[in-house]
Amino acid sequence: MSVKDRSSLIRLSQGHLNLLATCPPRFQQIYIEQLHSPLSLEQKEKQIWGTRFHLLMQQRELGLPLKSLLAEEPELNHSLAALTKAAPEILLSTNPNQREAEHSRTLSFNNYLLTVIYDLLVVDRETAQILDWKTYLQPQNKQKLANNWQTRLYLYVLAETSSYLPEQISFTYWFVKLPHQPKSLTFTYSSQQHQQTKQDLADLLTQLDSWLDNYQNYGIAFPHRANCQTNCPYYQLFPSSEESKSKTIKSITEIEEISI
Ligand code: SF4
Repeated sequence: MSVKDRSSLIRLSQGHLNLLATCPPRFQQIYIEQLHSPLSLEQKEKQIWGTRFHLLMQQRELGLPLKSLLAEEPELNHSLAALTKAAPEILLSTNPNQREAEHSRTLSFNNYLLTVIYDLLVVDRETAQILDWKTYLQPQNKQKLANNWQTRLYLYVLAETSSYLPEQISFTYWFVKLPHQPKSLTFTYSSQQHQQTKQDLADLLTQLDSWLDNYQNYGIAFPHRANCQTNCPYYQLFPSSEESKSKTIKSITEIEEISI
């Protein structure tokens, strides 16, 4: 994400929104200053496996050969078989005109371009289903997932960029992690939720406008959120807005990845 030229629109994904909503200083560090913490070996392995699974599902939708991918990693085969068994109505549908893998959409919103990529979009005359593959176990807290910007943004953008009403759109996560059986979680949508998301997006991006201006023009750091400071081990590592003009971020490359 480049913020140098504010005359062009800034692209934002759900990942940007999630970090902005939970930890503005980390947003500044990662997306503006481009200072990333190195991933642990375990994180890297998980990332590689997730990427391969998504590639497998995309190739499958395109009707491309899967043999070499499956030969390299037999676990992928087991995961695909388990998912097919758990969701045959989705995986074994034969109408290629009504579904697309890695379907991307972009929506202009104030000074930003909101971008989404659906792992699979399945539509008919009455409904549109967004499907997303997750290669980890289903989280216990459904409300947290409902509030996640991936859920909210993906539903919002489809309602804004298609002729489907919010009530006709749903979003299903499939959690695929061996040796567990795949599990799904579906979120329906409504006009009321759509209006709320629009308002929350406008509020969040108005904050971003202001923080970007302060950062670029006055060297003021992005502020901390108020609801997480008491439990956050990283709070002291980021300068407060008042300190930031005279103090650079201390040992920034040594700050561990925080999972939010
Ligand atoms: S207190 Fe911690 S989690 Fe909260 S905004 Fe600050 S650095 Fe982020």
